[in-house]
Amino acid sequence: MSPCTLADCRALDVRDPLRPLRELFAVPEGLIYLDGNSLGVLPRATPARVARAVEHEWGRGLIGSWNDAGWVDLPARVGDKIARLIGARPGEVVATDSTSVNLFKVLSAALSLCAQDAPERRVIVSERSNFPTDLYIAEALCKERGCTLRLVDAETLPQALGPDVAVLMLTHVNYRTGAMHDMAGVTAAAHAAGALVVWDLAHSAGAVPVDLQAAGADFAVGCGYKYLNGGPGAPAFVWVHPAHADRFWQPLAGWWGHATPFAFTPDYRPAPGISRYLCGTQPILSLIALECGVDAVLAAQDHGGMPALRQKSLDLTDLFIALVEARCAGHGLTLVTPREHARRGSQVCLARGDGAYAIVQALIARGVVGDFRAGDGAGGHPDILRFGLTPLYIGYEDVWHAVEHLREVLETEAWRQPEFNRKQAVT
Ligand SMILES: *Cc1c(COP(=O)(O)O)cnc(C)c1O
Repeated sequence: MSPCTLADCRALDVRDPLRPLRELFAVPEGLIYLDGNSLGVLPRATPARVARAVEHEWGRGLIGSWNDAGWVDLPARVGDKIARLIGARPGEVVATDSTSVNLFKVLSAALSLCAQDAPERRVIVSERSNFPTDLYIAEALCKERGCTLRLVDAETLPQALGPDVAVLMLTHVNYRTGAMHDMAGVTAAAHAAGALVVWDLAHSAGAVPVDLQAAGADFAVGCGYKYLNGGPGAPAFVWVHPAHADRFWQPLAGWWGHATPFAFTPDYRPAPGISRYLCGTQPILSLIALECGVDAVLAAQDHGGMPALRQKSLDLTDLFIALVEARCAGHGLTLVTPREHARRGSQVCLARGDGAYAIVQALIARGVVGDFRAGDGAGGHPDILRFGLTPLYIGYEDVWHAVEHLREVLETEAWRQPEFNRKQAVT
C-alpha cells in the first residue's frame, strides 16, 4: 500500500468488512490503543457477564455453581474455543494457569519424553531474544535436570540443532521485533534433527493464523490477556499433541489434573489427555472474562474469520510502515519488524538510539498508547518503540493519527520534557 491521505484512510475504514467488530470492544473515547499485544481491550460483554457470575453464580448458586453454572468445564470449554484459533482439535487445549507455569509443564514433559526415548539429548535450544520468562523457566528446569540451555540468534538456529538437542523452544512471533517464524518449516527441521518443538503463541493466538496440527508441533502454550482480550492476568492456555499427552505426568500434578479428583484418593492417577495439564482450582471469574475475550475474536468468523483478520493486520502494519517512512523520515527511526508478510506478526517495532522511552511517553500523553522495550544497552539490541495493531478494533484512520502524533512529537522534540523521561515500574 502506498502512503495515502487521511481521506484515503477514512475510505478504507468505511469499506472494512471487519469494522463492525470494533463495537464489541469498549475502546476509550479519544484513545488510539496500539498495545493490544500487551493487554487487550475490554470487550463490552465482559462487565455484565462477570457481574452475573459474581452476583448469581457465586452470590446465589454458591458451591452448586461448580455443576449448575458449568464452572467445572470452563478450562476445557474455553480451551476448545481457543483450539479453533490455533489449529488444534476439540479436547486438545485447556485454559489454565499462566504462560510461564504452562511452559514449565510442557518443557518438563518434553524433557521426560527425551529422557526415555533419547537420553543422550540434554540440551534445550532457544533464541537469545526470546521473551525472558521463557528463558528463565528453561534455565530453572535445566538446573533441576542437569540439562543445558543453548541460546542462539534466529539466523544460526539450524546449525544449533545438533545430535545433543532434546527440545527447541521458540516464541512464534518475537515480542520485541514482531518477526514471525515459519512454524511448519522450523518444526520440520527440528524433527529432522531429532528434537521436539515447544511453541509459545503469546503474540500469535488471535493475531495471526496458526495451525499446530498441520505444522506437526509437539507442545504449545499461549497467553490469554494479549490478543485474546481476557483481562489482566487472564489464564493462559496449553496444547499437547495427542500422541504425547498421555505419555507423561506433567510435574505440577495437582488434584484438578487427577483422573477422579472427587474420589479423593491418596495416590495420583493422571486424567487422560490434556486434562492432566490442570493443576489446582481455577480462577473462575478470570476464566469467565477470558471466555468473553475469546468469543469477541471468534465473532470474526462471521466477517471472514482469521484470513480476514490477517489481511487487515497486514494492511494496517503496511500502512503504518509506509506512513512512518513518508512522514517521520530523518528522525532516526529504523524499522525492526520484517517487511516480508510471511515473517511479520501483528505489530510494528521501530528502533531509535535515544529517547525511545520518552517518545512513547509523549505519545501516551497525546492518547496514542504503544509501549517501550529496552535494548541491551550494548548496541546489540537497540531500544524499541512497539506498536501493536489489533485488527479487531484498530482502524486505518487510527493509524494515520498515530503516525501524525509520532511526527509531531519528533519534530517538536516534545519528548525531551522531563515528565516524559521519568521511568515507571511497568514499561
Ligand atoms: C506475554 C508473554 C509471556 C507472559 O507470561 P506470563 O506468565 O503470563 O507472565 C510469556 N511468554 C511470552 C513470549 C510472552 O509474550
